Amino acid sequence: MTNPPKKRVLSGMRPTGKLHLGNYVGALENWVRMQEQYECFFVIVDWHALTTDYADPSHLKENVIDVMLDWLAAGLDPEKCVLFIQSHVPAHAELHLLLSMITPLGWLERVPTYKEQKENLKEKDLNTYGFLGYPLLQAADILIYKADVVPVGEDQVAHVELTREIARRFNQFYHRVVRTPNPTVTGLPMSGPHLVFPEPAALLTPAAKLPGTDGRKMSKSYGNTIMLTDPEPVVRQKLKTMVTDPARVRRSDKGNPDVCPVGDLHKIFSSKETMAKVYEGCRSAGIGCIECKSWAADALVKILNPMQERRKKYADNPRLAWDILEAGSARAREVTDATMDEVRKAMGLDYSLEDDSKGRAKDSTK
Ligand code: SF4
Repeated sequence: MTNPPKKRVLSGMRPTGKLHLGNYVGALENWVRMQEQYECFFVIVDWHALTTDYADPSHLKENVIDVMLDWLAAGLDPEKCVLFIQSHVPAHAELHLLLSMITPLGWLERVPTYKEQKENLKEKDLNTYGFLGYPLLQAADILIYKADVVPVGEDQVAHVELTREIARRFNQFYHRVVRTPNPTVTGLPMSGPHLVFPEPAALLTPAAKLPGTDGRKMSKSYGNTIMLTDPEPVVRQKLKTMVTDPARVRRSDKGNPDVCPVGDLHKIFSSKETMAKVYEGCRSAGIGCIECKSWAADALVKILNPMQERRKKYADNPRLAWDILEAGSARAREVTDATMDEVRKAMGLDYSLEDDSKGRAKDSTK
């Protein structure tokens, strides 16, 4: 018996440079698991980076390479998934353009992240079409692979919903009615619409709360990150200065790991045995924060060391990583070429002068 085809997954990341533990816990760790079960396409979305950083694209190439090195370091395996660069697959732009013809402006204006991001990035002029249209570019990124599943965090669910609405609208406008061969044998209806785009499902990534060193969400813009590339002494130093439960002012004060950012790190990265020691020792003031932080640092180093070893192999020879991206982009183009043939046909854009003259020749024989 043959196995059913794997469901297809599409997900992407902006090239923002080296990645931190928040990126790992929020997405990458999940992707590494998904590559075992799904047919995965992971894309570095460099055009998306331009929607907010159009004024200075000078770091784009360096950032793309850094993201790729961290992907490989984290365990994404080019034998198991397709890794590629968005701008190396120009069909994303063509589909984005065609979808822009049918997308009502109101759909884009009501995307919650549109207003939020504009608020958060006040220092940038985001009154551009590119910024308003970025969820549509994202829809094109997904639909062009006919992805079944899109792994997302809570804040991205609205984008997948928009993608589903756009797929539905396209299918309504441009479906073909196809006749079913042998309907009496197959029991299928005589005819039905051929829909170009399946509606993708959002797969909510369970997002563990990963605080940065200042206790706020880990983010480059807060300067509170632990990077996947931080060497052991840097990790230990960052942990030393990490904020703790404010109730533990003195060594003799009792604390609570549930309100301590270091406690949150333990919950994600430490073993059950260590967790038990942390809860017991913190609540009874049996341990000090310095000791507790050194255990958290041990757990982080244990995860980061093998990643950094893997990264080194590619960082020493970036050509290897680049070749993987080029091969992945070529594979992606095969898929997008097939989808775009279907899209052009569905929209009647596959015309040529030859067709016309054949049509006229036929007419003249009537
Ligand atoms: S002992 Fe650990 S969990 Fe408790 S407050 Fe200190 S750092 Fe936080």
